[in-house]
Amino acid sequence: KYSYEQLEQFDKQYVWHPFTQMKSYLEEKPLIIERGKGSYLYDVDGNRYLDGYASLWVNVHGHNDPELNEALHEQIEKISHSTLLGSANVPSILLAKKLVEIWGGKLSKVFYSDTGAAAVEIALKMAYQYWQNIDPVRYKHKNKFISLKEAYHGDTIGAVSVGGMDLFHRIFRPLLFERIEVPSPYVYRMDEYGDEEEIVNYCLKQLEETLEQRHSEVAGMIVEPLVQGAAGIITHPEGFLKGVETLCRKYNILFICDEVAVGFGRTGTLFACEQEEVEPDIVCLGKGITGGYLPLAATLTTEEIYSAFLGEVHENKTFFHGHTYTGNQLSCSVALKNIELIEKRHLVSDVQRKAQALAGKLQKLYELPVVGDVRQKGLMIGIEIVKDKKTKEIFDRSEQIEHKMILEARKRGLIIRPLGPVLTFIPVLAMTDEQLESSVDIIFAAINATVQANKV
Ligand code: PLP
Repeated sequence: KYSYEQLEQFDKQYVWHPFTQMKSYLEEKPLIIERGKGSYLYDVDGNRYLDGYASLWVNVHGHNDPELNEALHEQIEKISHSTLLGSANVPSILLAKKLVEIWGGKLSKVFYSDTGAAAVEIALKMAYQYWQNIDPVRYKHKNKFISLKEAYHGDTIGAVSVGGMDLFHRIFRPLLFERIEVPSPYVYRMDEYGDEEEIVNYCLKQLEETLEQRHSEVAGMIVEPLVQGAAGIITHPEGFLKGVETLCRKYNILFICDEVAVGFGRTGTLFACEQEEVEPDIVCLGKGITGGYLPLAATLTTEEIYSAFLGEVHENKTFFHGHTYTGNQLSCSVALKNIELIEKRHLVSDVQRKAQALAGKLQKLYELPVVGDVRQKGLMIGIEIVKDKKTKEIFDRSEQIEHKMILEARKRGLIIRPLGPVLTFIPVLAMTDEQLESSVDIIFAAINATVQANKV
C-alpha cells in the first residue's frame, strides 16, 4: 500500500487534471479518494467527507450501493463489452426501451455514447444531417446553431462551438463552427430589464428577432433546460423554456434539450423538460444515467428525425457516427438498475421534499456579507459570492476567495466546488435531510471563516 505522500508525488508527477491550473495545483495538498459509502467519500488516510458535488453531479443513490453493485456483478459474470456495430446486446436494448417509455413515446430512438459532450456532438450532427437528408437544396444553408449566453454543453469541438463560456471556450474560437448567441435570463444580473417576467420577455423577444432574420440558416437551438449549470447555476424563471420551444416550432428549427446535468431527478422531476411540459426533438442524457457508476450517455430523438436517416443504401442517408464503447453492457445494466431504483425508492418525490425543506435553511446564507444570491432548483444550488451586495461586484479573480471557501468547507468535512464566483452545492441525490442541513451549516461556517481570515 502506498502512503499519502507517495501517491501525492505520483499524482503530481504523472497526472494532468481537467480544468485545473496545474501550477497552483502542484502547490496544494490534493485530496486523494480511496472509497465511498452512501453520501460519504473517504480519502486514503480515512478522513470522511460529504460528497456535496455528487462526484461532478453524477451520483444518485450514493456510493457503493449494494443493489447497483449487484447489478454490475451479475452483468460482469456474463460479459463486459461487445459492440453495437452489426450486433445488439441485451442491456442496451432494455435500457433504450425503458428510456423511450419514460419519455412517453414522442422520443422513440436512442443513440448511445459515453460522455455528455459526445451526446451533444451527436445531437448537433444529427440535427444538421436531418435537414440535409430531407432536402439538401431547400435546407442547404441550415448549418448553424443557436445557444444561450454562457451556455455549456461539454468540451469536444462541436460542444465547444455551441458553448458560450468565454473563459473555457475563447482560446478555441478559431477552430469552431459558427454559433448564434441569444441572451439567457440571468435574473440576478439583469436588474435593468425589470422583474422576472420582463426579463423572460426580453430574452424571448431577442430570440424571436434573431429567428425572424436568420431561421433559414439555423438547424436547431440547444438549451440546458431550467438551469445553466456550469455558468454558475443560472436558474431560468418559469416560462422561458416553454417560450423557447414555441419559437423553435414557429420558425421551423429543431429544439434540442441538453439534460446531461439536470436529468435523472436533479431538479425535482426525473427530467427538467417535464416541468414546462416541453417536447424536444432531440434530448441529450449523461451524468446521472448510471447513478454515477460508469460512463454512459444517450441522445434520444423522434421517429420523424430517425426516419429521415433510412433511405436506400445508394442514397447515403446513413448517420456516420459511433464510438467503440457505444452501448457498453456494464454501463447499460447499471443504468437500468439505477432507473429501477429511482422508481422503487421514490427518489424523485424525495428530492422534491428535501429541496423544499432545504430552501428555508439556505436563506440563512444571506446573513453573510458576501452572499449576493442563492439559487436553487431541486438539489442544484448555487451561491453567488460578491464583494459588495449593492453593486454586485465580484472579488478580483486573483484573490481566489471562492477557492479558499471550498478549502474551508473541506476542512469541515464537505466537498463542494466553485464555478467562477459561485459556490455550487450539488449533493448526492440520496443525501439525507440531516446531511443536507449539516452541509449548509458547513457552507455557512466556511464562508464566514474565509471572510474573517481575509478581512473582506
Ligand atoms: N452538457 C451539460 C449541460 C453539462 O453540464 C455537461 C458537463 O458538465 C456536459 C454537457 C458534458 O458532459 P461530460 O462532461 O460528460 O462530457
